[in-house]
Amino acid sequence: MNKLVIASNNVGKLREFQHMLAPLGIEVLTQAQLSISEADEPHCTFVENALAKARHVSRASGLPALADDSGICVDALGGAPGVLSARYAGEPKSDQRNNDKLLQALQGVADRRAHYYCVLVLVRCADDPQPIIAEGEWHGEIAQEERGDSGFGYDPMFWLPELGKMSAELSRDEKAQLSHRAKALNVLLQRLRSA
Ligand code: IMP
Repeated sequence: MNKLVIASNNVGKLREFQHMLAPLGIEVLTQAQLSISEADEPHCTFVENALAKARHVSRASGLPALADDSGICVDALGGAPGVLSARYAGEPKSDQRNNDKLLQALQGVADRRAHYYCVLVLVRCADDPQPIIAEGEWHGEIAQEERGDSGFGYDPMFWLPELGKMSAELSRDEKAQLSHRAKALNVLLQRLRSA
């Protein structure tokens, strides 16, 4: 496989995938470059949504497709926003409004534990009977305020106690070593090599 379409229009995710996949010599295209519409994400699990996105893009492009469905799960909120992370504060999607809503929901809450979750699905063709699926988690806490300007989404308030930093204060290389997406991608690449 020397060409692959990333089934996402999220600029932050695309930047991270391009950075992590660049050393592998795989040509990475995006669904926007191929003018492919966004897939619906109607499901209540990350893996079903990721599979739907990967199939949609592979069918439209005739190429292998890699989809990421991810989000942040906050313990004190019973795992919310979870699969709804991108649209936590409603339409249109807004990272800033999502962060404001999350800070508000946790006002006065002492338990700040949270984790990012990512599931990746690679289909080699739209009807691939054996999609390659990999997951990753990244544990931290929701801070009391925002800081940092790298990354995207909830990164300015995702506190990493062992590093003493927000994930938005990490360099691109650091996030590519540690994140839920990086962990899932490493597992997926190992599975791909042994498939
Ligand atoms: P999806 O595109 O439906 O998978 O939504 C993913 C959403 O989860 C993003 O829009 C962000 O709100 C959040 N998210 C996932 N991964 C990250 C990350 O690495 N940093 C910050 N937010 C993330």
